[in-house]
Amino acid sequence: MDYSSFFHNALNRLHDERRYRVFADLERIAGRFPHALWHSPQGRRDVVIWCSNDYLGMGQHPKVVGAMVETATRVGTGAGGTRNIAGTHHPLVQLEAELADLHGKEAALLFTSGYVSNQTGIATIAKLIPNCVILSDALNHNSMIEGVRQAGCERIIFRHSDMAHLEELLRAIPADRPKLIACESLYSMDGDIAPLAKICDLAERYGAMTYVDEVHAVGMYGPRGGGVAERDGVMHRIDVLEGTLAKAFGCLGGYIAASAEIIDAVRSYAPGFIFTTALPPPICSAATAAIRHLKTSNWERERHQDRAARVKAILTSAGLPVMSSETHIVPLFVGDPEKCKRASDLLLEQHGIYIQPINYPTVAKGTERLRITPSPYHDDGLIDGLAEALLQVWEQLGLPLKRKSLAAE
Ligand SMILES: *Cc1c(COP(=O)(O)O)cnc(C)c1O
Repeated sequence: MDYSSFFHNALNRLHDERRYRVFADLERIAGRFPHALWHSPQGRRDVVIWCSNDYLGMGQHPKVVGAMVETATRVGTGAGGTRNIAGTHHPLVQLEAELADLHGKEAALLFTSGYVSNQTGIATIAKLIPNCVILSDALNHNSMIEGVRQAGCERIIFRHSDMAHLEELLRAIPADRPKLIACESLYSMDGDIAPLAKICDLAERYGAMTYVDEVHAVGMYGPRGGGVAERDGVMHRIDVLEGTLAKAFGCLGGYIAASAEIIDAVRSYAPGFIFTTALPPPICSAATAAIRHLKTSNWERERHQDRAARVKAILTSAGLPVMSSETHIVPLFVGDPEKCKRASDLLLEQHGIYIQPINYPTVAKGTERLRITPSPYHDDGLIDGLAEALLQVWEQLGLPLKRKSLAAE
């Protein structure tokens, strides 16, 4: 049997579909965010990162790095086992309390990633509800889709953020049948926000439970960084809030926050929680430092929004096809996988700008894009440089510009 041919052919399929992915070898420089070193085939080069999900640069914040180093020095690196075996180390206890407080919930439960928290969290919650039906937004993240699949119960997909459709589906389900609505608060590829208050209205009217992924919003929205639900004043109306420590909090790990009973049940039944080693103490301390900082500091949030608005304005006035977005995400339409990859390569090789191409299956075919995520540390000079580089690349690839700005005429 020629086993290697299976893998060879699988890889060839990706190459044929222009879906084969290459990861740049990058080395961030603490204290110089968003600057980094690119270990290119020709050697090391300085580059500027424009697509990081360390949205606020907290991964290099002195308080966060300091907490990690201090804890590693004091208690060591690893957790020493699953929580069943090793108990719960104290920095993790503190972190869960910090997260419960962040979301105004009785309790929180930590997982090794946001992915795992969705996958095992949704599956476990739905399995514990007899005859549950899950209503899942059409654009939910793969981790939620996997959680819904693993739940093994009936699932119905509602059109993305379409409240009329969601209501129609809810109305068709018997009133006494348990229902779980699963959605994100901020969809990170288009940068749109779900109508959480309306979702809560519908959930209350039709007796459904709600599960909301706030991965792209925690730390960045709401007066204390509690996310879109905090900003919209609906945190208390959502049953389960899920988030990550790996994006705006600059570390690693995922969590759910909910009532003490839900958390206790998931803790007791979720395989993705029970059978894996807990996050290391230094990571937990670093995440706690990031969350605490962002609970009181608004500077990062305000500057973040200001930078995103400026990038949108400058690129739009240059005629670049900025897709409309109500958030910190700035998607730039390309609409062709080959050109999207080429644009990304040219930006890196000729301009020292790193923006990963976003192709199928992350987004629908024909909507390939560059996804730009400005941070508080992208200054005016970097933004102007980005616009100039993009214009050159657009010309090189024969990509269309929108109407020329007055200044350019
Ligand atoms: C990144 C992401 C996750 C997974 O979070 P990790 O902590 O990176 O595993 C979950 N949901 C959404 C919407 C995401 O974009």
